[in-house]
Amino acid sequence: MSLKEAKDLLAKLVGFDTTSAKPNLDLIAFVQYYLAGHGIASTLVTSTDGDKANLYATIGEGPGGIGLSGHSDCVPVTGQSWTSDPFTLTERDGRLYGRGTCDMKGFIACVLASVKLFKTGALKEPIHIIISYDEEVGCAGVRPLIARLGADLPRPRAVIVGEPTSMQVIDAHKRIDAYRTTVTGKEAHSSLPSLGVNAISVAAELIGELDRVAAEIASTENDPRFEPPYSTVSVGMIDGGTAVNIVPKSCEIRWQVRSLPRVPAGQVPNTLAAFAERALLPKMRKVAPAASVETESQTSVPAFTAAPQSDAVALAMALTGANRTSVVSYATEAGLFEEAGCPAVICGPGDIAQAHAADEFVSVAQIEACLKFLEDLTARLRA
Ligand SMILES: [Zn+2]
Repeated sequence: MSLKEAKDLLAKLVGFDTTSAKPNLDLIAFVQYYLAGHGIASTLVTSTDGDKANLYATIGEGPGGIGLSGHSDCVPVTGQSWTSDPFTLTERDGRLYGRGTCDMKGFIACVLASVKLFKTGALKEPIHIIISYDEEVGCAGVRPLIARLGADLPRPRAVIVGEPTSMQVIDAHKRIDAYRTTVTGKEAHSSLPSLGVNAISVAAELIGELDRVAAEIASTENDPRFEPPYSTVSVGMIDGGTAVNIVPKSCEIRWQVRSLPRVPAGQVPNTLAAFAERALLPKMRKVAPAASVETESQTSVPAFTAAPQSDAVALAMALTGANRTSVVSYATEAGLFEEAGCPAVICGPGDIAQAHAADEFVSVAQIEACLKFLEDLTARLRA
């Protein structure tokens, strides 16, 4: 019964194109209406421009409770080649295909399909449904909601973040810091390059330094729980120049550091700034006194490390029957919940290998496993 409901709900959720760049209000309105149909009120925490909203809904009464948290947004399908329409749920060979099925509308569908069950008897402590936006863009959306926990929204005593872990219990992940470095040089005719400062060439040297730093980190850090077992540095975008016969005045690179939980943030940009100051800027300034290399922090997502004896981890282990925990290299909202004093754990249906990919899917078996997990959670909250 609830498997069919979960599939129907997943079909509805996948039908809303909630790519992060687009509004998610239609999906949120659908969830709000669905919950209202079960007599459950929702609180919306809306973005400043009003285009997007987080949803918070509580079933049951009393302090504490268990948060079930999922993000409503998904990554773009641009440039991907799909066998079937990404926004139409399609079942083939025991798999449910569609954008967001794995990451992470499958989890949200399971939670919504379990609402009837959550409501069938008294709960010793409440269940809180938390649906966010803009997770895929630096976990930006959930932050104003988290800021209200313990103020006008109840603070759960444990939060289960249902990202795709194949229902494994995850108790740590890396931190992400994204940066933009802008090189300002000086334009000149390309026949007289010595009169200019070539911003692209300077950016190339900066990229070389980032690669050198990355190699140094890889040879010094080692936390075998993570794959790879060290912090990584990666340049993702470059943009510079106006024409092939002009020495370019400006160039911008965007790059990212994914660090092990215990590594302090900010070391790589400091190293890069020191390199620029020592090896690049003196000669740039001889030609153009205003030449510069500036690095700005764009977004950061905190690492997640569950506290020792975390209630959330213990709960997920009991519900899945796992006797060990694992870690992941991707980032989630779990670190933000943990920082806000809500013990968190990551455990949800689907394999991260299918997330963000063409022909994204979640298997029916994973949906069943998640429904069972929620059923056991309900039994535990009722006993
Ligand atoms: Zn996700």
